Amino acid sequence: MIREIDDALQRAADGGRITPEEALLLYTDAPLHPLGEAADAVRRRRYPDGIVTYLIDRNINYTNVCVTACKFCAFYRAPKHAEGWSHDTEEILRRCGEAVELGATQVMLQGGHHPDYGVEYYEQLFGAVKSAYPQLAIHSIGPSEILHMAKVSSVSIEEAITRIQAAGLDSIAGAGAEMLPDRPRQAIAPLKESGQRWLEVMEVAHRFGVDSTATMMMGTGETNAERIEHMRMIRDVQDKAVEAGYADNRVAERGGAGGFRAFIPWTYQPENNHLKGRTQATTLEYLRLVAVARLFFDNVAHLQSSWLTTGKDAGQLSLHMGVDDLGSIMLEENVISSAGARHRSNLLELISMIRSADRTPAQRDTLYQHLAVHRRPEDDPTDERVVSHFSSIALPHDGAADRSLPLIEAR
Ligand code: SF4
Repeated sequence: MIREIDDALQRAADGGRITPEEALLLYTDAPLHPLGEAADAVRRRRYPDGIVTYLIDRNINYTNVCVTACKFCAFYRAPKHAEGWSHDTEEILRRCGEAVELGATQVMLQGGHHPDYGVEYYEQLFGAVKSAYPQLAIHSIGPSEILHMAKVSSVSIEEAITRIQAAGLDSIAGAGAEMLPDRPRQAIAPLKESGQRWLEVMEVAHRFGVDSTATMMMGTGETNAERIEHMRMIRDVQDKAVEAGYADNRVAERGGAGGFRAFIPWTYQPENNHLKGRTQATTLEYLRLVAVARLFFDNVAHLQSSWLTTGKDAGQLSLHMGVDDLGSIMLEENVISSAGARHRSNLLELISMIRSADRTPAQRDTLYQHLAVHRRPEDDPTDERVVSHFSSIALPHDGAADRSLPLIEAR
């Protein structure tokens, strides 16, 4: 077994492909340091400049009303629930304006599956944001929302995607992937589309030139083999994008990317939802998964870690396990913080985390292009207002969302 582990680590570190069976073996049995070193070798080969990127963006939720009732979700309220809310376009534009003022380059517009929101709603919303703030990339929604809006409007997936793309959608967030294999997905989100269907929507989007990211929520009772199977399903779809010419891994290595631009694993948060008592993924499980992901995804350009769910220490450690992107400052976040994520950071701290891990911090845009490389501390931005916030709806509250930044200080 030791020889099999060494062979797989060396092949992956050299840029070769490992099988799902080898990925599982590495995940469960490879010693931590060689595993991390191999993943870091892949990162260095892809990004020899030593740059680790971050993003300034804002997650804006347009509604918490949802008919899908995922068991792990602390954010949604069923239709007609007294705590259900929807923000009008004016409020969403106000939040976009605040984000632009603080230097954001991207908005993630995310929401529940509102029974009345069809393609027309998203056309109006994306069109309004793009018209008011053309400088903001709309990296938003996910296959679940696309399937839902197509159903509400009785149109095909293809029509839904082309219409929202024309209205202003730039790329699709990897939201809703949760766990893609059937058994764990049925256990935590029985009313959501299957993992296969989630991937089919992504394939259609990639065909139309709408790129995306892919996420994974770990820690709701799935097996190690199911975690690897989740990644296999994504890698197979990305292979198709590469074969068809929608994604070019060589281009991806230079910073741009097609198909799935990044893989973003995060850990389930256990508060205020129907899966109470489930074991969360441990930090060690998370770091091992991150390293295996870097070795397994030879066709996905970027690997992002989730400091929001795992904590800043684990986020910084992940930079030694193959990660090249620390994600966003998150000027606003409601969904995961509703389930208990309380980690919080600011621009200066995120940059410091990257630099003290012996990497060069750089602000990126949605396409992973470098907007500002902070080679020396003297190059660092100084805007102390750029701080992650949890909205009032994510903390004990009176049911109303705050209307201004700062929202509510995290504890
Ligand atoms: S995760 Fe999304 S689809 Fe599931 S209940 Fe929450 S808001 Fe609805």
